[in-house]
Amino acid sequence: MARQYLITGDVRLVRRLNRDAILGLIRERGPISRTDLARLTKLTPATAFSIVEELVQDRLVQESGMGPSRGGRRPMLFEFNSRSQVIIGVNIRSAQVLGVLAYLDAKPQVTIARDYDLKGGADVVQLVKDVIRELIAASPLPMAQLMGIGLAVPGLIDVDRGVVVQSENWDWEELPLRDILAEDFDTPIYIEEDDNAMALGEGFFGAGRGVSNVVCVKIGRGLGAGIVVNGMLFRGPDNAAGEIAHILVDSDGPQCTCGNYGCLVRMISAPAIAERAIKGLKQGAISSLSGRVGDDPEKVNVAMIAEAANAGDAFAHQIMEETGRYLGIGIATLVNLLNPDLVIIGGGVILAGSPLLEPARHVVKLRTFAAPGERVRIVAAQLGVEAPAIGAATLVMTQEGALPTRGFAGFD
Ligand SMILES: [Zn+2]
Repeated sequence: MARQYLITGDVRLVRRLNRDAILGLIRERGPISRTDLARLTKLTPATAFSIVEELVQDRLVQESGMGPSRGGRRPMLFEFNSRSQVIIGVNIRSAQVLGVLAYLDAKPQVTIARDYDLKGGADVVQLVKDVIRELIAASPLPMAQLMGIGLAVPGLIDVDRGVVVQSENWDWEELPLRDILAEDFDTPIYIEEDDNAMALGEGFFGAGRGVSNVVCVKIGRGLGAGIVVNGMLFRGPDNAAGEIAHILVDSDGPQCTCGNYGCLVRMISAPAIAERAIKGLKQGAISSLSGRVGDDPEKVNVAMIAEAANAGDAFAHQIMEETGRYLGIGIATLVNLLNPDLVIIGGGVILAGSPLLEPARHVVKLRTFAAPGERVRIVAAQLGVEAPAIGAATLVMTQEGALPTRGFAGFD
């Protein structure tokens, strides 16, 4: 018989897992009685009662009246207290700082977006501070009830040290962003890579709610993915997992900034899609897009192409279909590697809808093993442009114990 070891870390871990289970059930199924919580989690009533007590003290859970009697005394019911605190999530985007302030249901109550011009010498860190100050000023709750601030930043992020190791957009190297912000804001601060943040937001509160294994692909000026395995972010030891940009999808394709040819980012990023459309228009393609840009093809952007494709423009439809096929090749690689339940596609390009997603789904079926190919669903993101900011706020909640670490998976 195997010997059993017990170290104190295990006790804390078990306590956290039990707390997560109770909290998740109250968030998803409340109002609910302590007896039902004990029954559903298979914990002893004494353990369930003491965890509920702890959650009440943390102001995360509150009493919500008496439930119906099942023969004995009527039980007290408990519900999640989403309005007890607020959280701030800020996404540093390539030409904009976008911040949201939300209660613990992660629905933005206040959104502030400030555009900046990097060539004009904008001080992006200062702008982040300004946006946070504006959000705090607009908060319905006082600063004492701010649970924390989360930041979603593109690039290589050391989440433990709160440092932007490298971010090409701003030539940042080893920028101690968390410490810089901590000088001005006395609250817990967390930093996450923006694709991972988006995966967290979509995973908990968007298209991935209740799903354990999710890949979230963000198509913008660049391309990246956040990977959720068994309900938890998979970051890798260098926080560099999900860097899918340079997967080869067409060896005859155009040259990429990395020096290789036909990388996924070179075929499906927003600039790559616009480039193909502009080339087609210059070669005389007939499209409603020409009218929208006053016959200057260079002004065409990906949002216009996506909208036109969705509205039935044949040329735009063809551009999106091509994009969808390349996207499908990239997703098939992820499906063969990770066997996810769900792949979520985000970014402005998703306005195209089925002209993009249908070809991707078709290609994935052709290029994967039967079972994973049948299982995986490929869907559009639900949280829109605010997804990484909401994800950054979500990160604060997972770190501060206001969300179950492993998501809501298993409770649906
Ligand atoms: Zn490349």
